[in-house]
Amino acid sequence: MVIPLSKPDISTLEKKYVLEALDSGQLSFGPKLKRFEESFCRRFNVLYALAMNSGTSALHIAVKTLGLSAGDEIITTPFSFIASSNCFVYEGVRPSFVDIDPRTLNMDVSQIEQAITSKTKAILVVHLFGQPCDMDPILSVAKKHNLFVIEDACEAIGSKWKGKSVGTLGDVGVFAFYPNKQLTTGEGGMLITNNWRVYELASSLRNQGRGLNSGWLNHEVIGYNYRMSDLQAAVGLAQMERLTEMLKKREDVAGHYLELIGQYGLPISTPFIHPHCTMSWFVFIVILPKGADRKKIMDFLMQKGIQTRPYFPAIHLQQSYINRFAFCKGDFPITEEMAERTLAIPFYNQLSATEQKYVVEQLAFALVREDNNG
Ligand SMILES: *Cc1c(COP(=O)(O)O)cnc(C)c1O
Repeated sequence: MVIPLSKPDISTLEKKYVLEALDSGQLSFGPKLKRFEESFCRRFNVLYALAMNSGTSALHIAVKTLGLSAGDEIITTPFSFIASSNCFVYEGVRPSFVDIDPRTLNMDVSQIEQAITSKTKAILVVHLFGQPCDMDPILSVAKKHNLFVIEDACEAIGSKWKGKSVGTLGDVGVFAFYPNKQLTTGEGGMLITNNWRVYELASSLRNQGRGLNSGWLNHEVIGYNYRMSDLQAAVGLAQMERLTEMLKKREDVAGHYLELIGQYGLPISTPFIHPHCTMSWFVFIVILPKGADRKKIMDFLMQKGIQTRPYFPAIHLQQSYINRFAFCKGDFPITEEMAERTLAIPFYNQLSATEQKYVVEQLAFALVREDNNG
């Protein structure tokens, strides 16, 4: 028996809605999609929400709707999931990475302004692991230099910055629904905005370039098939109705881990949480001591039936980015150090207190072994 890194939380409500979707006869652009999108408008108090087939697709569309293209630059973080950069590299836009704050693991806002050039068009913020970025300085630098703000809130549905929901603070916000996210549709994503122009173009781009009011076979722009099916939307609608309850479960599990780590006095740290933030917990990350052999710790835990994963490798040191942009080791030292030391441990709604105790105890053993060997 292995305790997995993550596990979706599916109830009878998701199953009921999927059966309704199947019975409706409308498996694409049916009633569930409409209700799923409306549930986002209501919960986040935004005018427009567009579901897509992945978070990456929604990010790609966000970049396109803002008119970014080859030769432009985007300021963003190299410590994230690869999709937050790939989404604009698809369009020939260059990443202008700034290093992270070692405490929050989010973009170091004090370095943004010096990274701006005449080619900079936007800042793409990632609310990593559910922790909101420090939005005040980001929004004011963006305003001063006339830059768009795209929020990658794929790991942060329900997180709040000073009481305001992330995803609603910039020009466009994106959520993702892969099975390890707080809310899942199997695969899927959502773009939210208050900007009619963004909404109109995004609706067209996700649906083969069809205009909002043009016929089914009239294609006004070169678009994509980034649509979400009604079966996926049915799962998502049920998950939205359960979101508050699910986020509370995650908060309890995270709180219990923090307690256990304190009790055992483990020589690890966990990301600092800003007092202005409400966290929506995506994963549970521990930061291992400097110089610890992470691979050995992971192997030990795997032998004990505990799945873990390094979260995340630095984007600029991925082979694809080295090949394309000639980044090298040392470019973003804090990101590189954290990428070596962070480890995600099992984290999901149904994780029991007994399992959590077992995980933390085994992690303690792994760290002691590490200490004796090193
Ligand atoms: C999950 C995620 C995405 C989107 O992922 P998809 O698998 O395409 O839905 C984008 N950015 C970040 C930071 C993510 O964690």
